[in-house]
Amino acid sequence: TASIRSEGSGRVSLSGSGSTDSSGPGRDNSVDLPSHDDRWPRQNSLSMKEWDIPYDELKLYEVIGAGRFGTVYRGSWHGAVAVKVLHVHALNDHCAPLDTFKHEVATFRKTRHENLVLFMGACMKPPRLAIVTSLCKGMTLYTHIHLRKDKFTANKSVLVAQQISQGMGYLHARGIIHKDLKTKNIFLENGKVVITDFGLFSVTKLCFGNNARGDSLGIPSGWLCYLAPELVRALRPHASLHLPFSKQTDVYAFGTVWYELLCGEYPFKGQPAEAIIWQVGKGAKQSLANMQASRDIKDILMLCWSYRESERPDFPHLLSTLEKLPRKRLARSPSHPVHLSRSADS
Ligand code: ADP
Ligand code: MG
Repeated sequence: TASIRSEGSGRVSLSGSGSTDSSGPGRDNSVDLPSHDDRWPRQNSLSMKEWDIPYDELKLYEVIGAGRFGTVYRGSWHGAVAVKVLHVHALNDHCAPLDTFKHEVATFRKTRHENLVLFMGACMKPPRLAIVTSLCKGMTLYTHIHLRKDKFTANKSVLVAQQISQGMGYLHARGIIHKDLKTKNIFLENGKVVITDFGLFSVTKLCFGNNARGDSLGIPSGWLCYLAPELVRALRPHASLHLPFSKQTDVYAFGTVWYELLCGEYPFKGQPAEAIIWQVGKGAKQSLANMQASRDIKDILMLCWSYRESERPDFPHLLSTLEKLPRKRLARSPSHPVHLSRSADS
């Protein structure tokens, strides 16, 4: 396992004018692009400077979550922020981590949408790599559904799903694949959906030794049921970075979120990873026989979970389908705002 300094080998400087890392003599201060990607225009690497937040300017308070690859802190930088600090000491040889990180940050900063977390900047000087976003209030859908066991009525589920589709439709229109859409990455703030962690999958999830824990495929629990058949079939030990993520795999993951909203649990609940891999890989789906929902609602699930990616709808299509679903008892009064009532809110 190489350290970040040798891995970075002279390419660690981002800003181009005068800022060098401390990697020693002979290292150039290049702003050259990652050679593996010619689509990234040269001037982009210069303009990234404005998103570069000096680590010293950040105040970090308590840890709000720790994963295998990073720690999320409540912090302060011109107001309340969330800071995801990446565990760079765990970098391995097999990915160009800094290039990946810069590239993903470059993608992240292009996003401006109501239903997407606000990207504020990043610390891009090794060994301090961190992503700074606005701090989401409220709780994640995961917390609502799986920890608090909050019940989402069909109507509430539809309102949440519409907002997810809006945010995801925007990302896809900008050519960004989320790659990690799941209820843990969707916050609910007073009825407003805020999606986090889009486009940062490689660097935050898989680069840093995807075999740290768990079974031989290194599959974190609660991840598998979001993976489309073509991803499941491509799972190999140590090779998760090259999974064939696509807009359609995001739609499959959306199907799972939709199922969680409606049923309050994960599909294939309680089954071992091997059993899920086997079933999904050959095209079996979670049975909906015991699900209390209308045909149209189940149809959305089945379409999103289509074995063939070409048969899955896109997000604009999903949005219009969701908008056409018959509403029962939705607005209690004409002035009732279009967001959720208190019970499933923070
Ligand atoms: P995961 O998404 O798998 O839970 P993360 O490392 O992305 O792992 O997040 C760790 C914790 O930090 C989670 O509890 C998550 O809800 C919280 N978190 C992440 N981003 C934010 C944010 N922008 N605002 C508030 N909390 C956040
Ligand atoms: Mg997350």
